[in-house]
Amino acid sequence: MNTPLVTEAEQLVHSLAAALTEPQPAECLPCYLDRLLRTAPCDGTLRLAMRYRDAVAPRATALERRMHDRGGCCDCEILWNVYNSKSEDVFPCSGVPRGSTAACDLWEGRRR
Ligand SMILES: [Zn+2]
Ligand SMILES: [Zn+2]
Repeated sequence: MNTPLVTEAEQLVHSLAAALTEPQPAECLPCYLDRLLRTAPCDGTLRLAMRYRDAVAPRATALERRMHDRGGCCDCEILWNVYNSKSEDVFPCSGVPRGSTAACDLWEGRRR
C-alpha cells in the first residue's frame, strides 16, 4: 500500500541530490558556488567551479587560470576574492546567457 509513496520519495531524494550539484538553467558561476557552498563546505579545490564549467561551458578552458590569477584558488575564494555580491541576498540568480562563465548582475568584479 505504501510502496508507491516510498518509491516516489526515493526518486525525489535522488533527483534532489542530482539537482543540488547541477547548475540551474542560466545560473551564473558565483550564484552556483554561493548556493552549493551554503550546504557543502569548500574542499580547498576548484571542484565545483570545474563541475560548473564542464556542465555549462566545457570549452571555457581558461576559467581555472582566470580564477587563479584573480585570487580564486578554490571555490570559496572565488566568492571572497573574485566576485563581490552587490547585496546580502543573491538568490535567485538573475541569469546569464547559455555557455557564459560571466557573473550575473547581482555580482561585480572585485577590484584589487
Ligand atoms: Zn575554499
Ligand atoms: Zn547569478
